[in-house]
Amino acid sequence: MNPAVELLGLTKEEIVSFVETIGEPAYRGRQIFSGLQHRRLLDFDEMSDLPKNLRNRLKEIAKSSSLTIENRYVSTDGTRRYLMKTHDNLPVETVFIPEERRDTICFSSQSGCPLQCTFCLTAQLGLLRSLTPGEIVEQIIIVLNDVYGVGAETPHGTNLVGMGAGEPFLNFDSLIAALRIMADEDGLFIVPNRVTVSTAGIVPRIYDLAQLDDRPHLAISLAAPTDELRQKLMPINKRWDIDSLMRAAKEFERSLKRGERFTFEYVMLGGVNDTDEQAIELANLLGRYRLKKVKVNLIPHNGAEQLDYTASTPEQVLRFKSILESRDVSAYVRSPRGRDIYAACGQLAAKGESYGLDNAESAVLSV
Ligand code: SF4
Repeated sequence: MNPAVELLGLTKEEIVSFVETIGEPAYRGRQIFSGLQHRRLLDFDEMSDLPKNLRNRLKEIAKSSSLTIENRYVSTDGTRRYLMKTHDNLPVETVFIPEERRDTICFSSQSGCPLQCTFCLTAQLGLLRSLTPGEIVEQIIIVLNDVYGVGAETPHGTNLVGMGAGEPFLNFDSLIAALRIMADEDGLFIVPNRVTVSTAGIVPRIYDLAQLDDRPHLAISLAAPTDELRQKLMPINKRWDIDSLMRAAKEFERSLKRGERFTFEYVMLGGVNDTDEQAIELANLLGRYRLKKVKVNLIPHNGAEQLDYTASTPEQVLRFKSILESRDVSAYVRSPRGRDIYAACGQLAAKGESYGLDNAESAVLSV
């Protein structure tokens, strides 16, 4: 028997083709897409506009859901961290961050991560596997249903950031497929302009992203202004050094439309990458490549007992920021959210649960 089709990972057009293969008219496909993606129903039985015999047929040959919530942690600042589980028992973490003007959902693209950034707890899981498009989409649906109720309108829209567990550009095709599904106006209708995806520097995929018209915003995690230091913090730098990363960033910059910018993220590690000299080196680096349509997000490190780093002091973060600004680099400080529930950047490591993680891969890969 064929494995069940994961309908959350299909576009509206693909669902239409799928229902036609089982002898149903196209409009049934559109109803199913709307049930899943607009009304956010994760159970065929709730789709009361479908005839019972079709719902029963779908239950036999298709899946409307594949993730389950294992745990949910709520921070004192309102941030919620979800620990979900795939059908094959692997952890998936998603974070909801309430904000004044627009809420943000931070989703994962992989279970675990194969990269070994030394400041990140997720790295300690290794790669368990990449997530399917359906598993990426379902994280968003589960969070929206939990926060607002099944099918309820979100009060002021949703931003997405692909900055949870995993390196999104090592799961590029599934990522782009999921974003296209979520952009459909008959579904979640979260357009690419409201999505930011962060990479540790998978250079070939930055060039690929530059070619796409319907692409999300790009953030590149830099963490150091020199190869020597970046190699220690982000071993992926051995595969693609700062020069190749900057050339890709420059190419991406050329593809930006008027008014668009992209981001470098810079995790601030006390006494490691946060000195005045390093701020000057960073500004000089961006200047050498004439990167103008760029901003730098300074992210105070989120500590954990398993990691050897401390956060930069708030004073040093502000000094670093003002040195960048004095050299014409736009810089912002990202305030940490959900630290108390291990929901902040670099803290997602299935904290609170134990999984059989024996088959984890942890390597600097060849792409
Ligand atoms: S910072 Fe991102 S890319 Fe690096 S190990 Fe953590 S999850 Fe992976």
